[in-house]
Amino acid sequence: MENDTFTPELLVPAGDFEKLRYAFAYGADAVYAGVPIFSLRARENDFTLTSLKEAVAHSHQLGKRIYLTMNIYAHNSKVRPFLDSFCELADLGPDGFIMSDNGLIAQALRLRPDAVIHLSTQANATNWTAVEFFRDIGVKRVILSRELSLREIAQIHEKVPDIELEAFVHGSICIAQSGRCLISNYLNHRDANQGTCTNSCRWEYALLREKESLLAVEEMQQPRPRYQPLENRYAVTEKKRPNEVFPIDEDEHGTYLMNSKDLCAIELLQELRDAGVCSFKVEGRTKSLYYVAVITRAYRRAIDDLMDGRPFDKNNLLEVLSVSSRTLMTGFYLKRPQHYGENFCDGDSLPLTHRFAGIVRGTQAETGLAVVETKNKVSCGDTLEWLYPEKTVHAPVERICSSDGTEVSEVSGGLNCCLPHPAPAADFCLLRSPL
Ligand code: SF4
Repeated sequence: MENDTFTPELLVPAGDFEKLRYAFAYGADAVYAGVPIFSLRARENDFTLTSLKEAVAHSHQLGKRIYLTMNIYAHNSKVRPFLDSFCELADLGPDGFIMSDNGLIAQALRLRPDAVIHLSTQANATNWTAVEFFRDIGVKRVILSRELSLREIAQIHEKVPDIELEAFVHGSICIAQSGRCLISNYLNHRDANQGTCTNSCRWEYALLREKESLLAVEEMQQPRPRYQPLENRYAVTEKKRPNEVFPIDEDEHGTYLMNSKDLCAIELLQELRDAGVCSFKVEGRTKSLYYVAVITRAYRRAIDDLMDGRPFDKNNLLEVLSVSSRTLMTGFYLKRPQHYGENFCDGDSLPLTHRFAGIVRGTQAETGLAVVETKNKVSCGDTLEWLYPEKTVHAPVERICSSDGTEVSEVSGGLNCCLPHPAPAADFCLLRSPL
């Protein structure tokens, strides 16, 4: 990265093989994929050793890169299986391994000195001495802690210029320091550091007065209890800090004590690149194929604009906002998020501007119609947006055929139907409807 002309890599999550294909089609330079058992997000992972082999081969055929995530903190019983699995996976020839556990990194490099190791954000490298340390033990890239500012990243790059720096540009943020958290483990025995976080920080909590709690516990066994407004405003204080009061607001949806907004740094790509970041990472191996495609395309265009000297195009931000997401912020890059970094009002989404309508699975040979796997209801007269990697085509739905060929006025989500193509048929087409 000594040279000023480097183009940052766009690194996108691939929760399964299909998402990997769409990620590349919509502009990713590289993907990261989980290894069963040994990556955080283990539950959602659809890859097996066989499909990972295909995934590595497919990525390389396209001239793209694939990194395998093995970022658990292992207990003793997992060390041997981890290292056996690591050697097996190293034989597949991935472009790197994303790891956290210092001991496992050292062992892995002993077993395979040529392996490319990227330090996971889970390891929380927050300063240049940590980055220097990992460089010295043979780590090729550090995925920086999400809690760093642009200034801190630039300082790290200045002090340790000979290591690759990767930073998150989009997706969820932990309320704890990047996953070092016991909330999920405490509440339902699923450990974030063993790959099974249940995002409990974003759950909808109810505030109960002590005397009501037994009744409330019983009520919770029933269908959702009716909302009873609290009589007073509530706040939390701490014994030794009498002058600090933390209000807790509750509405009919509940109360959200720890609910972080999501990260969106699409407007800060120039700054991140200037700070020395060579890989822009999108979070979310559990996100949908539609999410992966839309977010990848928006960031691809923003990176291309940046590298071609064009000004930031606000349409890319609108595209990002069109996908279901919690409210967004720029994380820690510009300033430390205080209250504005949390969403105390709800746990879910911004109002959607579009709804995912379907995936075009091919073209019927006899009719030339697009075969669509619908995800939500489509009706005649709706306007659909046909998304392709390089363009979006708006077109009204003039005709719908059900899978047996009969014309119908609408089709429900989950069923297949056929629609006239508004543009020449092309691979990787997705449909959405503006709301
Ligand atoms: S519970 Fe929330 S803060 Fe804790 S690891 Fe999971 S996502 Fe992160």
